[in-house]
Amino acid sequence: MTRRYAVKEIFRTLQGEGGLCGTPMVFVRFSGCNLWSGREEDRAIARCTFCDTDFIGGERLTASAIADRVAALDGPRMVCFTGGEPALQLDRALLEAARGRGYRVAIETNGTVALDGLRPLLDRVCVSPKTPDLAVTAGDELKLVYRGQPPDEIRRFEALDFRSFFLQPEAGPRYQAMLDGALAFLTRQSRWRLSLQTHKLVGLP
Ligand code: SF4
Repeated sequence: MTRRYAVKEIFRTLQGEGGLCGTPMVFVRFSGCNLWSGREEDRAIARCTFCDTDFIGGERLTASAIADRVAALDGPRMVCFTGGEPALQLDRALLEAARGRGYRVAIETNGTVALDGLRPLLDRVCVSPKTPDLAVTAGDELKLVYRGQPPDEIRRFEALDFRSFFLQPEAGPRYQAMLDGALAFLTRQSRWRLSLQTHKLVGLP
């Protein structure tokens, strides 16, 4: 039987964060995450408690249907699989379907699910760690949400094999304090760079 993937939404925009900020691409947002159910009543017991993404529900689509939807959003051929947690569902069949239509492929993952067999089919790997237990310890960029962590806790990630490191202030009611704290850290070192959710600043999804 043909596999179907739970997909919350597919949309074209500019990447707002991290090292590819400003780059046009299509986002495929999968439904579901292994660190939170997505329901408010479960937030207190979630392993990731500060999520602001709606990843519940959506459609069940085949790999070719997803690739068709991506290709229908005319523009530069880059697609980013995100979520929720994309590594729970992303597989070779879907990556090959996207690549078969000429797309370069990126993933934004929380890093808790190994990507092993998928690596040769991924052009870019961004890990945004939400727990200390990482199965993905190498990639193009590591993007850490700043939530008031002490400098030692941030710098611990530098031991991992990423080409660049980004610190992004937590969104929400504590934003200004988190921005101030992130800037205080960033201006006193040279390894990490600032990431902002610029898509939100300019009104893009
Ligand atoms: S890991 Fe990502 S998608 Fe999952 S709950 Fe945390 S922020 Fe949300």
